Amino acid sequence: MGKRFDTLLFPGGKSKAFTLSYDDGVVQDRRLAELFRQYGLKCSFNLGSGVLGHQEIGRAPGRKDIDVSKISPEEVAEVYQGHEICGHGLYHSALNSIGTPLAMYEIIEDKRRLEALSGRPLKMFAYPFGLYNDQVVQLLSLAGYQGARTVHSTHGFDLPENFLLWNPTCHHDDEKLMELAKQFVEGFSFAPMLFYVWGHAYEFDGNDNWQRIEALAEFMARYADTVWFATNGEIMDYVNAYRRLEYSADGLTIYNPSALDVTIRMARESGGTVLPAGQLTHLEPTPL
Ligand SMILES: [Zn+2]
Repeated sequence: MGKRFDTLLFPGGKSKAFTLSYDDGVVQDRRLAELFRQYGLKCSFNLGSGVLGHQEIGRAPGRKDIDVSKISPEEVAEVYQGHEICGHGLYHSALNSIGTPLAMYEIIEDKRRLEALSGRPLKMFAYPFGLYNDQVVQLLSLAGYQGARTVHSTHGFDLPENFLLWNPTCHHDDEKLMELAKQFVEGFSFAPMLFYVWGHAYEFDGNDNWQRIEALAEFMARYADTVWFATNGEIMDYVNAYRRLEYSADGLTIYNPSALDVTIRMARESGGTVLPAGQLTHLEPTPL
């Protein structure tokens, strides 16, 4: 049997994916979610359900006041249509220092309320203030979360080993943002590439730089033929389906036990081979 690689390709045989993640459920999400929809992009929005509908002005010394009010619970389904709703802790507490019982409550009650609003089980979370420890990670897993985003920028395009410690590529205010975007669309790798940008929509008001995210959205949308635009959860589900593939010892039979079709690249020079959901696929031996 010949040399095989069987690297992951995203749906449509694409080797690249782009995802976004925005926190806190602020009123500026109305504009941001619509902007992303216009460009065909997908974002995961991380909401603290205990503060939805809360009116608040953010004041910081030497900076202009910013409206950091949260959208109302009644608006959630409409504002985030086409995107993903994710947990962010009930009251945005520091989960690594408030004690286990309260951390459990913040995580599970937030999840319960957001599921009532969105109508489906949540799978993604973002750590409030980016704070976590081993116990918080374990609590999220016990609550049924499969992934959680940190605030550690990698400036890289690798898929995470552990989705519960999912490091983004960069924040939208990163000075390298557009440089990374260009590197991402122009680069080639046999390994799948993921570009992951995060932030808070109120920052665009605070820094008067909505044009920054509009320019990124417009730039990325040009590469719709080669880049898969997906939510965090969609990417995680797909990668997990790939990681669950079951191989025969001769490599010629692969079982895909998931509910998603999975595409792989078997050899360097080959295109994508689709392994249909829930089916056994029998392959021809490849030449040496
Ligand atoms: Zn937050």
